Amino acid sequence: MVDARGLAGQLRTVLGDAAVITDRQRLRTYECDGLAQYKVTPALVVLPRTTGQVAAVVRACAAAGVPFVARGSGTGLSGGALPHADGVLIVTSTMRSVLDLDIVNQRAVVEPGVINLHLSREALPHGYYYAPDPSSQQVCSIGGNVAENSGGAHCLKYGFTTNHVTGLELVTPAGDVVQVGGKAPDAPGYDLLGALVGSEGTLGIATKVTVRLTRSPEAVSTLLAAFPDTDRAGAAVSAIIAAGVVPAAIEMMDALAIEAAEAAVHCGYPPGAGAVLIVELDGPGADVEHEFAEAERLCRASGATEVRVAADDAERALFWKGRKSAFAAVGRISPGYIVQDGVVPRTALPQVLRRIAQLSADTGIRVANVFHAGDGNLHPLVLFDDAVPGESARAEEVSGAILDLCLEHGGSITGEHGVGADKARYMPRMFDADDLDTMQLVRCAFDPQSISNPGKVFPTPRLCGERPGRHQGTHPLAEAGVAEVF
Ligand SMILES: Cc1cc2nc3c(=O)[nH]c(=O)nc-3n(C[C@H](O)[C@H](O)[C@H](O)COP(=O)(O)OP(=O)(O)OC[C@H]3O[C@@H](n4cnc5c(N)ncnc54)[C@H](O)[C@@H]3O)c2cc1C
Repeated sequence: MVDARGLAGQLRTVLGDAAVITDRQRLRTYECDGLAQYKVTPALVVLPRTTGQVAAVVRACAAAGVPFVARGSGTGLSGGALPHADGVLIVTSTMRSVLDLDIVNQRAVVEPGVINLHLSREALPHGYYYAPDPSSQQVCSIGGNVAENSGGAHCLKYGFTTNHVTGLELVTPAGDVVQVGGKAPDAPGYDLLGALVGSEGTLGIATKVTVRLTRSPEAVSTLLAAFPDTDRAGAAVSAIIAAGVVPAAIEMMDALAIEAAEAAVHCGYPPGAGAVLIVELDGPGADVEHEFAEAERLCRASGATEVRVAADDAERALFWKGRKSAFAAVGRISPGYIVQDGVVPRTALPQVLRRIAQLSADTGIRVANVFHAGDGNLHPLVLFDDAVPGESARAEEVSGAILDLCLEHGGSITGEHGVGADKARYMPRMFDADDLDTMQLVRCAFDPQSISNPGKVFPTPRLCGERPGRHQGTHPLAEAGVAEVF
């Protein structure tokens, strides 16, 4: 394998000097993503401006057998964009153009580095926006959203990134440029788009993304309800959904998360609340009015001690400010914390929250809970102080035990933050060897050299020449001359 640094000269002729970084201090800027526990300094960083340049970089890597990792804004929380020490980090922050705002067809075509919120801002004057709204939407890129299949508060009603991407231009790990899907929905044949969205940069690099634009709702109403505890708040969530109301978002925060948000952004949530719910409805004015009244009634019937209705956009923004800043806010009440991401069926929420509280009491590790309550996507924030001997290790154990709880209740080890480097070790808890082999076969079909973001997603890195698991020897159809091995 050629040393990645050996490619610097060749890449400078393609990208120009300024777009190839070899200086160690500058390389260190890219040593981690939003999960700062893991740090690796890449051998080389490149900042391409066009698809052609991305393809040229990937072709050079493929020819030399050098691994590469794509990076958008680096806000990922699972170490997905963690660099490879002997590899090239391909950063898309210089590919930030909205190429086509096709309002008539309700589509936009964007470069991968476009910031999520910027796309909505461009579409808004036309009466449209881009619906998936991660809390990091002011900084995260659409390319990163595609790779992580990102969600957000309003994905309860509108669906995740995968429901909004209709086409991708992809640079394959061999450096070929291919088009998958387009502006029209539901292309026939295998759903390759479905395989690519959420593939965490292991199947190639998205260089253009075609997305749906969603019409801005006629009316939006938001309430903040305070409850004595998470049990009663959880009961309100179930009651609202059981009544057939489909809120755009239902978000919950527990007492510790409220304390942190209050300390950081002074959002003015009701003092002494054991839990708060933010419930937002949107759509045609008459529907929203009717269903909102029902949601408000159900909150009170479930034990809400106070219900506030946002009188205007400013008050709505204040309700959301506490929720959207919750991860960072926890820094106000603890020097260190782990942002966990797991899913449970909505009905299991109260039970799982009680078990998390028990774990916290047993270990002395505080856990603040913030979550997308409507779809059972938990974000426990596990607090620790590095200065206390053994506390970070205990926090790590609590964090892992929470994922076990999610699996025990029929859930998942990640809802929206991806597997990346951090959760690869948990994959065998959720999938058996055959499941993982099947996923590896897909990866090998795209990336036979295993150079596209290696070491992520899968617990045991395999070379694609190795035939995984029980798929050993010549395939019977090939032996019979009925099929051909490519
Ligand atoms: C405060 C905070 C709040 C957050 N809230 C949410 C939330 O509500 N919902 C949610 O889903 N996530 C959330 N996240 C996580 C994160 O913002 C998302 O995962 C986001 O999609 C990452 O985008 P990025 O541009 O930062 O990607 P990066 O972190 O740069 O990369 C993420 C992954 O995408 C790959 N990648 C990047 N660009 C490309 C490309 N062009 N082609 C192929 N692969 C690529 C990388 O290799 C890596 O595997 C939050 C993060 C923070 C810090």
